[in-house]
Formats: sequence, C-alpha cells, structure tokens
Amino acid sequence: MTATPVYLDHAATTPVDSRVVAAMAEVLSAGLGNPASTHPPGRAAAARVAHAREQVGALIGAAAADIVFTSGATEANALAILGHVRGQPAERRSKGHVLALATDHKAILGPVQRLADEGLAVTRLVPARDGVLSADALAAALRPGTLLVSLVHVNSETGVAQDLPALAAVCRERGVALHVDAAQSAGKLPLDVQGIDYLSLTAHKFGGPQGVGALYVAPARRVTLQAQQVGGGQERGLRAGTLPTHQIVGMGLACELARSGREALAAHLESLRQRLWQGLADLPGVLLNGHALQRAPGILNLSFEDVEGESLLAGLPELAVATGSACNSSSGEPSYVLRALGRDTQLAQASLRMSLGAGSTEQEVDTAIAAVRRELTRLRALSPRLPPPVADWQAQGWRVLQGEAGARRLGTWLRLLLAVEGDRVVAARFQAYGCPHTLAACRALVGALPGQGPSTPRGSPADWLAQSGAPTDKLGRMLLLEDALQAALSAW
Ligand SMILES: *Cc1c(COP(=O)(O)O)cnc(C)c1O
Repeated sequence: MTATPVYLDHAATTPVDSRVVAAMAEVLSAGLGNPASTHPPGRAAAARVAHAREQVGALIGAAAADIVFTSGATEANALAILGHVRGQPAERRSKGHVLALATDHKAILGPVQRLADEGLAVTRLVPARDGVLSADALAAALRPGTLLVSLVHVNSETGVAQDLPALAAVCRERGVALHVDAAQSAGKLPLDVQGIDYLSLTAHKFGGPQGVGALYVAPARRVTLQAQQVGGGQERGLRAGTLPTHQIVGMGLACELARSGREALAAHLESLRQRLWQGLADLPGVLLNGHALQRAPGILNLSFEDVEGESLLAGLPELAVATGSACNSSSGEPSYVLRALGRDTQLAQASLRMSLGAGSTEQEVDTAIAAVRRELTRLRALSPRLPPPVADWQAQGWRVLQGEAGARRLGTWLRLLLAVEGDRVVAARFQAYGCPHTLAACRALVGALPGQGPSTPRGSPADWLAQSGAPTDKLGRMLLLEDALQAALSAW
C-alpha cells in the first residue's frame, strides 16, 4: 500500500504552485509594512497589492479597481449575496426575491438561506438532470421582484459548466443582477465579467494559497453593495481588515499563471479525464453524473450501481478522492447535488468524484482505474443480485442452510450460507450489501463458524460490534447479522 495516496481531489484544493510558494516566501521575508500605511514600507506593500490586483483583474477581463480581496470564495459569495440584497432600499428588499440553483455550492446556499430566514422569498431552482440550467428555465423562474440570481459557474461535484453568456443575457434583459461563483472555472475555462455583476474567485482552487480570494464588483453595483465586514474601511469600504500582502501576491501570481497556462492545463486535464472515463466506462452499472460535454475539463463524477458507498470508499485507500456517501458529509445525508439531479440515495451514496490537476499523470489515472475496477469486482462478488454461491457445496452432498436479513434499499442486506454435515458446520459464506463494518463482521463470523455445532456459542451482536471496532450506532447492523444467523440455524 502506498503511503501517500494518489491525489485526485483538486476540486477540494490544489497544491500550491512552487513559483507561488517562492513569491510568497519572498514577500514574507521582505519586511514590508501594512499596505494601508503611507510610509515607504507600507507603500512597498501597497505596490505589491496593486500589482496583484491587476493580475487578478486580467484573468477575468476586469479593471483592477473592481477587485475586492476577501478570504476566499465563501466570503466573496456572502459579500455579493448578502451585501447586494441588504444594500437595496427597504421597500425593494421587502418584496424581494433571490434565485439560486439547488445544486449550487453551500457557500451560495448558506447566504441564500440566511436571506430566507430574514423573510426574503428565495427559489432554489432544480436544473435539468444533466445539471445544466437552460436560459428558458431561468427566464421562467424570474419574478418582478427578483433582486439577484446567484449561481455556480462550474459545479464542484459534477464539473458541469453553465452557459454564462446565455444566462447573463436573460438577467440583463430582465434587469436582474447576476452573481457567479467561478471558484472552479478559473484557470480552466475562459472567464469574462462582461454582463456579470459579481464574480467570486478563490486562489486555492488554481495553484494559489488557501485563505485568499476575490470578488469582482461591477462599477455600477459598487455604490449599493453593503459591506458585510466593517472596520477600517479597506477595499474602498467594501471589506475591512488589513490586507494579507503575501496571500494577495500569491493569488496574483496564481492568476497570471492560470491565464498564461489555461489552454495547456485544460488540454492536459481533458485528456486525463477522458483516459479515466474510458478506463471505467466499459464496466456494467457505471453512470456518469452531469452533462457529458458541457463541463470543465478536470472533474469526473461517477455513480456505481449495486455497491454500497462507504464500502467502496473504504476499499480505495490508495486514492484521495471525494464521495457522495453520507459518511463523507457533515449532514449525514448523501450528496444533495446528485439527489437534485435525480440520482436515488444508493447512487448518490455510491459515487466518486475524481478531480485532476496540473500535477496529475497518466500513471496516477491508471492506478485509479485499476483500484476502482478491483473494488467494484470485490464488492459485486458479494452482491445480493447474484444467486447464492453454493453449487460446489451441493456437489459435495452437504446440506445448505441460509438466512437473510435487512433490505438493500435500507442500506444493509445480508445473507449467510452454511454448509452442514451431521451436527457440524463445515463451511460458511456470506453475501452482503453494507458498510465496511458490516462486511468485516460478516467476514469474522463466517471465519469462526466452521467446526461449530447448532448450539455452540457464537458471540452476540454487541461482541461483534466491539470486535469490528464499529461505532455504537452500527449495532443495528450487527442485529441484522444475528437475524440472518438465527434464520439459517432455525432450519437445522
Ligand atoms: C471551493 C469552493 C468554494 C469555497 O471557497 P473557499 O475559498 O474555500 O471559501 C465556493 N464555491 C465553489 C464552487 C467552490 O468550489
């Protein structure tokens, strides 16, 4: 087992480009002042910030003056969404309406929920099953009181890219402000703020450091946008707080590198994504999540029929990937993005998001392909869809006992198979759909059964729980194992 897993989670964060690291280190050791100070060390810092502001603006076709530095895309989104609405006259606000996508990032849905709590009407529009929002669907969902449309350009789970020019045209025609979260698109797709009122960026998704981002604010919106963090009046009063010069310099350089390297990176990511998809697409029951073509190049999201999500992930320790499985989410619910695209709970759970980056290689992709193929084969060999594997036992003349418990749609199903001769178990097997702890408990029990008689003690569900190291909330699954065992033994 490799100590460091293959990193296929660039949609969560990317390694910092070594040139960015060097530039940041230089700033940190240069003895610069506070960029708000007017003495020479302060002015030296301000000059670095001004240069970075140009670099950020250049990536998205914006003037440097329209860039507001933030701590990342979460803060940029909150500033755009809350600041835009709260900056409207009370009259307009009280009848106001905000529209986002049900598949948007939590960094959009959180502020939108806050506005709903404050009494605003909100719509969380469900896109088509391929994740794409059509201009017609957007137009139909706008209302006379719509103040803002806020949407993610490239979805961080599926990689689906919205058609920004078409959606921006609808907003402009209806006089509605448009906020775009471009955290995943920067450096991969061309970006232009033409027709867009607010656009969020974060450096750590394209080779920059964590903890710094930016919001583009169209000049016409600057007057009404309400600061959400107040204090010293930095960033023209739109975002108070001492500017972190080294972070901003890092982001600026990352933007410049993203701009000059975008086409080459996009081609690299697309060819690796194709390789990954082609290496898995021939397997039965593998489903591509999101539109096949209208997407950013680096993200592949797949759902797997007939396997349980937690077990799939647990079997892939050599890969650092993301999953829609509930155990991967703080809410305990499987991916709301995939659910909104019509995937059922099982398919949302049993999903993997593999996201590639500048440093990804064909060899890493091949490692991922081999690992996923191996795990699917392993888990599907236990599948409830297969007939009980007992032909060889019957050929031996052994008596076969079997017991089942649970249900696949409830997340756990298992079947125990015992071969008995006289008053002894001579062999035992299982089939199961369930979490890694359930599979481990089945494996342990099946290993312990041969040689035992109908009433030899076999331990209790509580023992199995303790032996498998499972958390206590998995006791229910151990009780299912007990049920299956009893069902098998009752026929003896
Ligand atoms: C990563 C991400 C964010 C959050 O950005 P932070 O800078 O980490 O706050 C927001 N939106 C999208 C689409 C993202 O991918």
